[in-house]
Amino acid sequence: MYEGIRSPAIHSPKTLSEFATAAHRYPQALVWAGGTYLMSRKDYYPSEIKDGIIDLGELDELKGITRNDRFVEIGSMVTASQLLFAGKLVLPEILQITLQSLASQIVRKQITIGGSLCIPDVRLGLSTTLAVLDATAEIKQYQDGKVSTHWTPISKLYNKDGKLLLGPQKTLLTRIRIGLEYGDFQRFIVVEDPIRNTNECVIVAFQATRAQNTLSKVQFCITFPNKAYHISKDIESKLSGQTLPIHPERVNSLSYELVTELRKMHGMISDLQLERARRIFESFLHELNSESLSS
Ligand SMILES: Cc1cc2nc3c(=O)[nH]c(=O)nc-3n(C[C@H](O)[C@H](O)[C@H](O)COP(=O)(O)OP(=O)(O)OC[C@H]3O[C@@H](n4cnc5c(N)ncnc54)[C@H](O)[C@@H]3O)c2cc1C
Repeated sequence: MYEGIRSPAIHSPKTLSEFATAAHRYPQALVWAGGTYLMSRKDYYPSEIKDGIIDLGELDELKGITRNDRFVEIGSMVTASQLLFAGKLVLPEILQITLQSLASQIVRKQITIGGSLCIPDVRLGLSTTLAVLDATAEIKQYQDGKVSTHWTPISKLYNKDGKLLLGPQKTLLTRIRIGLEYGDFQRFIVVEDPIRNTNECVIVAFQATRAQNTLSKVQFCITFPNKAYHISKDIESKLSGQTLPIHPERVNSLSYELVTELRKMHGMISDLQLERARRIFESFLHELNSESLSS
């Protein structure tokens, strides 16, 4: 029954320089972080992976969390539960809520930050929240024995359909950086389980700064996991500068503008998802209004 099945070769670099050597020698090798996505693929094992697997598990350089006055840096092999544990004092609340929403406590011990951001075809909570926090990622690209390194905003790692844009060459996300200045109004909502009910799920992250009842620096990102990754610069800028409370008719018209924009840019989103997105968006604006009236 198991005739013909063979284990893939596993390469376990201990330093980034050993990773570079492995990436050069085995350009087709699969990069393996926590393995939770990879193991959920139908054909993950046994497989005909030509160059085997590069396991990131022994790369201590990717497991650090450091902080200074301006930002926190998190290695890509830090797990969701390690970050939650270490981050109570250093992370914005919206990120803690996002991490708590990922799967179960047991699975969070396995999911890594890099793995979560580098799933090729589906966008989930972390990509959504890190976009509104203006987080950036350090990306290393390996080609013809050479390595190039650059920092890129996490919101630019994906196309409008949520597909990862790292290109065909071997690429490693090594760490992310999150600034420590953020808005005083932050919300994160996931409706439906993104893994079991992907087609109906909606994920929204929103943050804004309030000063003397005026909104500024509004940022929000809406994700329909296997369909769309949407950041509306137009609606963000319409909200930034608004005085609170926002007139209910304006709240309503903005929420329908959002739906029109989503419909125009992404054909696949269902009516149920659109209505969910609209209501979540409206609920954030109503919350801002009621907090402004009670303060
Ligand atoms: C039962 C279950 C429920 C879940 N529920 C949720 C949920 O509700 N919300 C949620 O957000 N997530 C959830 N997840 C996790 C999510 O679906 C992915 O499995 C997870 O984010 C992948 O992380 P990983 O570290 O295991 O990555 P892996 O599976 O090891 O890798 C994922 C992909 O990223 C690539 N990769 C990994 N690290 C890097 C790197 N540093 N640089 C470049 N490429 C890299 C790999 O090659 C692979 O293509 C759930 C998982 C399970 C099993």
